[in-house]
Amino acid sequence: MKTVTRLIKKVLETQRLSKQEIVRLLWAKDTEKAELTAAADTRRRTVFGDGVHLRGLIEFSNQCGQRCTYCGLQAGNGILSRYTMTAAEILAAAATAHDLGYRTIVLQSGQHPDMPAAKLAQLINRIKKQWPDMALTLSIGERSLEHYRRFRTAGADRYLLKQETTNERLYRQLHPQSDYNNRLQCAWNLQALGYQLGSGHMVGLPGQTAEDIADDLLFFQALNADMVGIGPFIPHPATPLADAPRPDLALVEKTVALARLLLPRSHLPATTSVESLAPQGRKAVLQAGANVVMPNVTPLCYRRDYQLYPGKAGVEQAARRLQESVETELKSIGRFSAPGRGDAPGALATIGGMPHEL
Ligand code: SF4
Repeated sequence: MKTVTRLIKKVLETQRLSKQEIVRLLWAKDTEKAELTAAADTRRRTVFGDGVHLRGLIEFSNQCGQRCTYCGLQAGNGILSRYTMTAAEILAAAATAHDLGYRTIVLQSGQHPDMPAAKLAQLINRIKKQWPDMALTLSIGERSLEHYRRFRTAGADRYLLKQETTNERLYRQLHPQSDYNNRLQCAWNLQALGYQLGSGHMVGLPGQTAEDIADDLLFFQALNADMVGIGPFIPHPATPLADAPRPDLALVEKTVALARLLLPRSHLPATTSVESLAPQGRKAVLQAGANVVMPNVTPLCYRRDYQLYPGKAGVEQAARRLQESVETELKSIGRFSAPGRGDAPGALATIGGMPHEL
């Protein structure tokens, strides 16, 4: 039996691979890659069916105090016009998401230390009262345990805090103002408070090796992440990494496929960044194990200023147009938008409560 076939059989049976075995699969070429992504696609269908969960993304503020060296929102980018949506604007965007049938909204912003926790908790509470059938995910970076508790008590269901890389040296280079261990501690705090936790990383970071990607995947597995966001590194001209090369779509596909095989029950989004990397990127990743798409419902007037990376797909399309193009794309590959909140399998016991006291 070929090595790749043997490794795929092993992970299908045991959900286990060693670091070196993951690296071997990351090196898979053409036909081997097709075998890997087909196995992941089958596993996705067995676990989740053909429904794809759509999460309405509201990028409510591009203010950020951090200087992550790959990100267009980093505090040193003086040419970016900064905004924070008002509560009324955020509620209107949430209403749009709900009208479009989305049963999860994701409130995302830069890491903005001055954003008052009380105000945000109040807003979460209003959204959850107004649309009790809608799950709410926060993606606002590192905050204190007390803030996380406050947001959870207010009704936040999920939290997305990507680790970006588990190579500590690389992490420090990329995040000069962020402490690696604090990032980990934040993830553990969120889990202990009963959030459904999303982690994730970037593929193709300058200085990243296949071994690093393998370590990241093993980390997501050890963390038992409910969601894993895997996106390509795309260099932004207003950052120190402006001249670094982009990764191949194939590497992103293989990484997503491996995540599906190692974490069969985790939600895996086909990220906007993969669509921005290659026109067929989102479709390819949806056929390599992904089962979530996050259409943007941020008002058009703000979209251009939420530039994590250049060439971001969908910045000119209104929420309804974006939904239509996602639905068309899903249909073209025999998929459809799934009803309901799309909670993490196994998370239902914790919805509405905080299972652990911290
Ligand atoms: S990655 Fe997040 S925390 Fe870092 S600069 Fe960008 S928005 Fe800020």
